[in-house]
Amino acid sequence: MKYTLPVDPRMTEVVDELQSAGFETYIVGGAIRDLLMDRRPKDYDISTAATPEQVRNVFGRRSVRIIGRRFRLAHLHLGKEIIEISTFRRAPEGHGRETDEGESETLPENIILSDNDYGTVEEDARRRDFTVNALYFDPVQEELLDFSGQSLDDIRHGVVRAIGDPRLRFEEDPVRMLRALKLVGQYDFSMDADTENALFSSLELIRFASPSRLSLELEKVLSSAYGDKHLKAFHDYGFLEYFLPFLHERWESEAMRYALELLTERNYRVDEGVYRNSISLATAILALPFVEESCGSRPGDLWDPSRDSLAAIRDILDAIFRPQGMIRSVMMSAEHILRLQAPMARMEDDGSIVGAYGYSHAREVLSIQNFVRWQNPELQDFWPAEHDRPRRGRKRPPRRR
Ligand code: ATP
Ligand code: MG
Repeated sequence: MKYTLPVDPRMTEVVDELQSAGFETYIVGGAIRDLLMDRRPKDYDISTAATPEQVRNVFGRRSVRIIGRRFRLAHLHLGKEIIEISTFRRAPEGHGRETDEGESETLPENIILSDNDYGTVEEDARRRDFTVNALYFDPVQEELLDFSGQSLDDIRHGVVRAIGDPRLRFEEDPVRMLRALKLVGQYDFSMDADTENALFSSLELIRFASPSRLSLELEKVLSSAYGDKHLKAFHDYGFLEYFLPFLHERWESEAMRYALELLTERNYRVDEGVYRNSISLATAILALPFVEESCGSRPGDLWDPSRDSLAAIRDILDAIFRPQGMIRSVMMSAEHILRLQAPMARMEDDGSIVGAYGYSHAREVLSIQNFVRWQNPELQDFWPAEHDRPRRGRKRPPRRR
């Protein structure tokens, strides 16, 4: 059907170039969903009949990188931005792959382990996860395609509905449960009854999900401006117990409430463009009240930095992300942010803090805590924004033993 959407003109150009080279091409996924809800898309996903190599031929080797081994995609670099361009795919016939000995018994029968068969746009639409994520928009012709026939209605009414048999779709790829709950948390969508029942009976399958995909989704949760809402939806549906058991066990605690309060303020600042959407900053914030607790302080009362707080910081960071884990660079960076909190809150400047590794994030965490809890006007002014000081050469993080 004809439709007008305020698509970023650069994306329209990208689509136009691929179409002019003879390849059927659309904008798809979250961007269309967001535009239809009058929200600004975070990024754009493009879906095309062109293979990754053909995409590279159209835009040139300098701007396209082909990534992924099992699921190959073209990344088009436009200035600082990266646009994901994926080729139409169909659901793999016969699920699974050759399994290692013994593995086939434990894996769910229908789990998808290889997903690289190209297909038509209709086939591509059928393998997408939810109706609200399965609209295709051609910004050149201004044409909106709704293959499920339900996508537009579901967006209007705020319904998360799996495409096809929900139980099978969650079994094929358990990461979809997490994705459903993100939609619930972020947009306040409700879940269609069949999808919801299937989710409840599939929760424990999450342990079969690919660890790298899960940790990628976790990074997205933490970097987005909705992490607090996502975590609440994970908790409400009983998913947190399987996904982040440490947080699940402490959900009703004072420390958890404080962590969510800090995260909400951090998300507000990200949404308003006040501060960057750093994953390590969000990670540090989530861990902070539990570090305080394990050092014998109450949430919001900082620990005594002279005590053995470094071990506590490391232990808590590890515990929060078990069993999936979090990328090492984020953990390292969160650790440094946390190490600076106690001395900064006490305004103890021995000359080594300003400009230290993690300083500007640490200053932001301090400012968030100050806003939420302490309201001490001197505190923020005491610590200069990094650029106020002549740079003395950035300190490298000490090596972790
Ligand atoms: P966001 O705003 O977080 O980017 P999104 O829906 O665009 O949301 P992406 O991870 O960018 O999420 O995925 C793009 C699209 O790819 C989705 O909208 C969906 O159609 C499809 N997709 C992603 N993950 C899956 C999956 N596990 N199974 C089926 N389809 C998926
Ligand atoms: Mg997207």
